[in-house]
Amino acid sequence: MLDTRPARTLKGHFINGQWVRPARSFPDLNPNDGSLWAEAPDGGRAEARAAIEAAQAAFPGWANAKYTDRAHMMLRIAEVWERRTPDFVAAVQAEGGGWFGKGMFEAHYVPEVFRAAAAVCYDSIGEVLPSEYGKLSTGIRFPMGVVSVISPWNFPGILTARGFAFPMAMGNTIVLKPSEDTPYLGGLFFAEVLEEAGVPAGVFNVVTCAREHVGEMGDELVEHPLVKGISFTGSTPVGRMIAAKAGAHLKKCCVELGGKDSLIVLEDADLERATQAASFGSFMHQGQICMSVEKVLVHERIYTDFLRRFVERAGKLKVGDTADKAHVIGPLINDRQVARVKAQLEDALARGAKLALGGGIRGRFVEPTILTGVTPDMAVWRDETFGPVVPVVPFRTDDEAIALNNDTEYGLSAGIFTADEQRALAMARRLETGMCHVNCSSVNDEPHVPFGGSKASGLGRHGGRWSVETFTETRWITLDRGGRPFPPVF
Ligand code: NAD
Repeated sequence: MLDTRPARTLKGHFINGQWVRPARSFPDLNPNDGSLWAEAPDGGRAEARAAIEAAQAAFPGWANAKYTDRAHMMLRIAEVWERRTPDFVAAVQAEGGGWFGKGMFEAHYVPEVFRAAAAVCYDSIGEVLPSEYGKLSTGIRFPMGVVSVISPWNFPGILTARGFAFPMAMGNTIVLKPSEDTPYLGGLFFAEVLEEAGVPAGVFNVVTCAREHVGEMGDELVEHPLVKGISFTGSTPVGRMIAAKAGAHLKKCCVELGGKDSLIVLEDADLERATQAASFGSFMHQGQICMSVEKVLVHERIYTDFLRRFVERAGKLKVGDTADKAHVIGPLINDRQVARVKAQLEDALARGAKLALGGGIRGRFVEPTILTGVTPDMAVWRDETFGPVVPVVPFRTDDEAIALNNDTEYGLSAGIFTADEQRALAMARRLETGMCHVNCSSVNDEPHVPFGGSKASGLGRHGGRWSVETFTETRWITLDRGGRPFPPVF
């Protein structure tokens, strides 16, 4: 089952419609077995600058292209992407360490992002305002210029597409830097697709680099004066730093960051569906989703029954090399992530938590793990885990469940299970999260919705018209017809 083909050499950075051979490369590993999957281009400040200059040169042409031409281009990208689905899914299994089903899900989602981006081209680009002097007074959206997109490795298809499709549809030009853990899935695969779709040279550029050079390349992508907007999806510490740098340069940015999401199960919940949502939310892609369920809060009256069903369900998930489609739980992406999860698990067990399921770690493979007896002094309660380890914690009242949910610096998403819709909606309003899903998992996304977090989970919203708001500049333009008097003294 192992992919025994020799490592690929990726074609190069994609700058101004050309594949630019890199001076250096870095190893792009298959996290299942640590084998070399590809040699990826390792750029730095110079490559980022060249890409930004190419994007700036392409900006006037793209911004002034007919809106229908931009929409049609988005639809062509969706078509080419769909044709390339098998290549993308194979790379999800190998470069990304993802289950086959995760790859299929991502591959089918991404074309919808481009179709939703095509749709925003037909939306209103402004408003007509009343004017005291009878002017034609308008607020009109304009593309900003070059937008830098920095994306993560966990859902490199969806999160990269979401970052650039809407800004590009609105007439901005793009420089994309994917994660060093998925330079192909989150970057150079897109370059292949957009090249085949016929995107004009310079409108879309991709530069990649090793972790050692991410600081210099990242700085250039934020600080270069021609960059006008930044879309960042990744961890809170890096996002904070990028938002601070963007702020210092008075640049708009949208940062989608980490989470510590709860699934709240009330005593009247449908337990079958609630346990399925808990299992999917906690263990899909090994818990490496920003909106993963990281705390399951269960009403004390159904706690024992819920826990038994949850353990039974999650215990059936097969762990192993994702070259085999039956392995739903693959490896964590890298050794740093494994070390983080291991440290949280050891800390919890040392402080008195108990294993209800799992706990085993072999290399990068972590078994689906359910903990009981977790208390607020434990790292697994406080810090983002980003792995397949989840505490199940009892509560007595709605107020207590809300307080437990809000007891975190993060505020991305949440789920509430109950038969009482009024009660759930009342609770949803009191959760300090950017998103909340009643009778569903915290893990939810659609291309056109306002996706984003509160508190340390981010700033700004991606998706549909919310992305349009973020990545355009609204200008006030008026036309006077002699109605405004000036003071006679002038
Ligand atoms: P990360 O912050 O390490 O990396 C994200 C991106 O930032 C990568 O492309 C990386 O190369 C780049 N980067 C790292 N240091 C940089 C620097 N100094 N300057 C510029 N760029 C830099 O995060 P990750 O490990 O790739 O992703 C996991 C994190 O992302 C988790 O915390 C997760 O919750 C979060 N995430 C959030 C969302 C969301 O929508 N809110 C979605 C997915 C992942």
